[in-house]
Amino acid sequence: TKTIRPLLAGNWKMNGTRASLDQIKAIADGVKTPLSEKIDTLLCPPATLLYVATALCDDSPLAIGAQDCHQQVSGAHTGDISAEMIADCFGTHVIVGHSERRRNHAESDMLVRAKAQAAHDAGLIAIICIGETAYERNSGQTLDVLKRELIGSVPDGATAATTVIAYEPVWAIGTGVVPTSEDVEEAHAFMRAELIERFGKEGANMRILYGGSVSGANARNLLDIPHVNGVLVGGQSLKAADFLAIYAAF
Ligand code: PEP
Repeated sequence: TKTIRPLLAGNWKMNGTRASLDQIKAIADGVKTPLSEKIDTLLCPPATLLYVATALCDDSPLAIGAQDCHQQVSGAHTGDISAEMIADCFGTHVIVGHSERRRNHAESDMLVRAKAQAAHDAGLIAIICIGETAYERNSGQTLDVLKRELIGSVPDGATAATTVIAYEPVWAIGTGVVPTSEDVEEAHAFMRAELIERFGKEGANMRILYGGSVSGANARNLLDIPHVNGVLVGGQSLKAADFLAIYAAF
């Protein structure tokens, strides 16, 4: 399973102004070491910085993506951006179904699936987020939730090249609390089996990231767990030094 090329992805959420462009530049410069031949790197700044960020990464392997897209190509959807618009800014990836969007914008699995499909239609790689809440974990529903979200949120045509799954336990996001290695291993092995059952070889090769309070201190441990094919990083992606410390752990 560790033959899958890993991905280090950063999600800036609603953080970052033009003053933060020097951090993007530092990350773009920092991921150029020989390591970049073995792993993919991605940063998802807010949409306001997308176009200028891709220009900054012109001669860096750092890919730039967005944090959400609308499910339609264009139209009367005030405040939304489409996958086409992201591609037009030279973005290559888009996160869909992040728990903050599922919660704050009441996004359903069906909507997340439509957004992932829109991303694929625009030629983008969709990073589809799933994960249980604390309540769901404590009531023993974790694997049921992961199964339901995988079935509901991942489009039928998903391939290893177009789709990345990000397992983000909601209770681990931004809390500093990370699940035990055993819990991460159980979840990732379960998701892998589900993906193989539905997508065959593509499911066997699809990247499954772990996300939730990842830092330079815990990244190595997480990356050693079977079927963890990279990490999705929030808070520790904002400063180049923190993000590059995670990069160095690969
Ligand atoms: C995230 O928002 O995807 C995330 C994992 O956040 P953090 O690393 O801050 O927990």
